[in-house]
This record gives sequence, C-alpha cells and structure tokens, in this order.
Amino acid sequence: MQSVTVLGATGSIGESTLDVIAQHPDKYSVFALSGHRQLEKLAVQCLQHNAQYAVVNHKSSAQQLRALLADRKGNTEVLYGVEALCEVARSAQVDMVMAAIVGAAGLLPTLAAIDASKKVLLANKESLVMAGGIFMQAVKDSNATLLPIDSEHNAIFQCLPESYLNGDQSAVKKLILSASGGPFRDWTLEQMKLATPQQACAHPNWNMGSKISVDSASMMNKGLELIEAKWLFNTSAEQIEILVHPQSVVHSLVQYVDGSVLAQLGNPDMRTPIAYGLAWPNRIASNVADLELGEIAQLSFEKPDRERFPCLQLAYNAAAAGGDAPTVLNAANEVAVEAFLNHRIGFTQIAQVVENTLSECVFSEPESLEAIQDADARARVISMALIKRLEV
Ligand code: NDP
Ligand code: MG
Repeated sequence: MQSVTVLGATGSIGESTLDVIAQHPDKYSVFALSGHRQLEKLAVQCLQHNAQYAVVNHKSSAQQLRALLADRKGNTEVLYGVEALCEVARSAQVDMVMAAIVGAAGLLPTLAAIDASKKVLLANKESLVMAGGIFMQAVKDSNATLLPIDSEHNAIFQCLPESYLNGDQSAVKKLILSASGGPFRDWTLEQMKLATPQQACAHPNWNMGSKISVDSASMMNKGLELIEAKWLFNTSAEQIEILVHPQSVVHSLVQYVDGSVLAQLGNPDMRTPIAYGLAWPNRIASNVADLELGEIAQLSFEKPDRERFPCLQLAYNAAAAGGDAPTVLNAANEVAVEAFLNHRIGFTQIAQVVENTLSECVFSEPESLEAIQDADARARVISMALIKRLEV
C-alpha cells in the first residue's frame, strides 16, 4: 500500500489523480490533500478519500474548512501555510507526492518532497522552469525519484532508452515535443488581440486549469515545456524540436541516431501519465478510453509559427540566456496571465509584458534558492508596473 500526498488536489490534475487512486484502493491511500480557494471541493475530497491531513494557505480558510468537515463528521486534520505544505510533502508516512499546485507556489513543497527522497510525480512545470539547476541538483543529492507527468515529458520518458536515463545519451539524436497549437492555432495576430479569457481557456483537446489553458493559447506552455525538457532530460534547447500536432494523440517523440523514431500515443486524458507515474515501473488501468486510430483517421503535423506566437521565441531566448532568465520569464508570464484573466490586459499583451520584463532585467547565475526567489520577486514587481502602464 502506497501513501500519497496530492498537492493541488482541487485542480484539474489533482482531481484526475484522485480519480485514478480511487480505482485502486488496494494499492494507494491518501495521506494529505491541499487546496487553495475551493474549500467545499476540498472538504468533499477529504471525506471521500479519508485524508489524514488537509492543507490550505490561510488561517481563515483553515477555519472554514474545519467547519465544513465538522458538519459532516470528517476526521481530517486541517493545517495551513507553506510550512504545513512542506510538512505533508516530506512526512515519513508518505511514499509519493503528486506536485500539482499551479505556478511558483508549488516550488517549496515540491523541493521538500525531493529533499525527503520521495517518489515525486511532477506536474508543476513552473517550479522546474524557475529553479531548474537547484531543483535537479536536489534530485541528485537526495536520490529522489522524479517522474514527469506533463504529457509530453511523460511520453519522452517512456520512449527513452534506459542508457539515456543512466547518463549515456549517444543513442538519441533529438527529442520532439508535440504541441496542440491551442485554441488560436489558426487565428491571425489581429484576431488574437481581441481574444477573451473564455476563448483562451476553451482548449480544443484538453480540459485544464485556467493558467495552463492561457499558456497553451499563447504557446508559452510549449516554451515552458522546452525549458522543462532541457532540465529533465539534461539536454540543450537545440536538441529539442517542437512540432504542432493538432489532434494531441502523439504526445511526443524520440529520434534515435539510427533513424528510428519512437512515440507514445494515447487519448488526450491526463489520467494516462498520472497512472503511469503512480504505478511506475509497473502499469495499472486508468479508465481512459481506448485509442481508436481508425476513427481518428488522420494525424497531422506542422512547424510552429514563432511570429504569431512570440511567447515561444521568448522562451527560446530565455533558455539561451540561461542563469535566472527562465525565472524571470516564468514570473512575468504568471503575472501577465493573471492580469489577462482579470481583463486588465489583452491577450497579445501577455507576450509584450514578458518581453519588456526580460529586457529590463540583468541576468545572473542563481547560486541559491533565495537568489531565485529574489529574481522571481523582482520580475513580478517589474511586470506589475508594466501592466499598470498598459492599463492607462
Ligand atoms: P488548476 O488551476 O486546475 O489547479 C491548481 C491547483 O493549485 C488547485 O488545487 C489550486 O487550489 C491550487 N493552487 C492555486 N494557487 C495556489 C497557491 N497560491 N498556493 C497553493 N495552492 C494553489 O491547474 P492544473 O491542475 O491544470 O495544473 C496544475 C499544474 O500542473 C500546473 O503547473 C500545470 O502547468 C501542470 N500541468 C497541468 C496539466 C493539465 O492537463 N491540467 C497538464 C500538464 C501540466 P484551488 O483550486 O482550491 O484554488
Ligand atoms: Mg504538456
């Protein structure tokens, strides 16, 4: 029996994780769940999964959650704050941690799980983008098991030879990340200027949280994934190709030196990579519908357009600049996406805010977690000021 903490349980990945866990009560039990704003949902999840602990951000949320649980005679103990999140991630009673908080807020609890040598299922790509060097060093030092849940990276992980993961990359020529192209794949820049949050969040294939949905629409998601892949697979941005594949069936590919290309396919449903991560190195059922290629009939591929999707180019530039440039890219993007979701700026201004923030920063190699947090905070101040100027 494996005991699991699900960070970000109330989100899209969190819900899918609990769905897979519930299908295998003989294999997995829930130790702790975390949520932020959706307290009613978190209370229901705690009762359904008999969680020992629930963690929220603030004291007032903890009080509300305790009241919701007391009404229903739940036994879950409610904690709050970042240190509590870290505690349920590193507890000796936990075997596995699903890191599915969105954004930079996921960094510290994910690192706590890594430092405690847990098996970590990584959905929270922002933590790796913002702190890649320190993050991967922590994985090495602690001997934690890091399994990528992002569908593309999970696909690549499945297609790589064992020798690659043990340090010998000679058999592999390049990694190919597939991208759906998002809801604005065929839109002109002029059309995108008027795009609403609702349109940006209406992803054609995947049902996801609002931040990653907007990132998919701007293709910043693929830019973040490029940096994520660079760290996870210890390679360079030049060895990673991005290929737009609107059907989201081929989740990513690995090209070998002998000309072979291996791909992982499946319906676009995150329960597949989540089940893979939970059961690794074995396999378990996920209740995902069988892939019917005969019905899909056609799979198509095209090169991405970096002019209509400038966020992609910005991510390439940040990856090439190195140091804390990806930290700045990530922070500015988080601030800009939130401003777009709150109708403060237009969709195409997300790229503008990120670009201008990057150009106002001088990059350096972050030597510590504090240096990364400083770079993140400085970038947020700059992008907030830029957004204020755009509003008037
Ligand atoms: P959601 O927005 O659906 O869920 C986010 C989760 O994080 C929720 O539980 C939310 O709580 C919690 N949360 C939000 N802000 C904070 C905060 N400041 N402190 C603590 N907890 C917080 O996102 P997704 O599930 O879609 O994505 C989660 C992560 O997984 C992201 O990093 C995303 O990039 C990555 N990912 C997602 C995929 C997907 O298909 N959804 C695919 C690949 C990667 P609440 O809702 O209660 O406020
Ligand atoms: Mg992805």
